[in-house]
Amino acid sequence: MSDGAPLAERLATVSEQIAATARDVGRDPADITTIVVTKFHPASLVRELAELGVRDVGENRHQEAQAKAAELADLGLRWHFVGQLQSKKARQVRQYASAIHSIDRPALVDALAEGEPLDSFVQLNLTDDPGRGGVALDQLEPLVERVLAAPGLRLRGVMAVAPLDEEPRRAFARVKAASDRVRALAPDAGAISAGMSLDFAAAIAEGATHLRIGSAITGNRPSHP
Ligand SMILES: *Cc1c(COP(=O)(O)O)cnc(C)c1O
Repeated sequence: MSDGAPLAERLATVSEQIAATARDVGRDPADITTIVVTKFHPASLVRELAELGVRDVGENRHQEAQAKAAELADLGLRWHFVGQLQSKKARQVRQYASAIHSIDRPALVDALAEGEPLDSFVQLNLTDDPGRGGVALDQLEPLVERVLAAPGLRLRGVMAVAPLDEEPRRAFARVKAASDRVRALAPDAGAISAGMSLDFAAAIAEGATHLRIGSAITGNRPSHP
């Protein structure tokens, strides 16, 4: 195992970059939540992150997230589910997740409609490929209305992954525009979950409130288990 120093250094470096970028664009770094995406990494790494002060962690696969959340229940971490989610697994995710960032279709809203209000983000598909996950931009309002009608979901805002073939700043400007449409329906749902290891500066410039950063902090992911 590593002695933790490289992890602490990467975390500190990224945190400094986030704060500096926020100030450069006239934003308060305190308005930005960094979620460290720990997928494929062992629970021991998540524990090291917690010891370094990380409170928000992200996972994209239910089985892995469920196991880590159970193993690390003593840490009081906030688990953010950021991956594509099958409707039949949705109720289980509710048991450990503080937030779901990948609400992208009516069936998933319906599967999560009952229960204690769970923070949720509607995921936008910024590509033309329906397989990428996320709701098409022209279907945004009906999905938002459905979330707002679900007592078990508390809409926080939108989430997106920048397409590989588009300049990130341009993609995140489209996310900002979609966020404005959501706020027209739900004034309190102004959160924007956007920005990963390679594009978080562009996301901050376009108003991201929740960054989902993996490898820049954790180091390279172990190969797919
Ligand atoms: C893996 C993942 C991230 C983090 O990606 P990095 O490039 O490692 O920062 C962010 N969001 C989602 C949805 C992911 O699956």
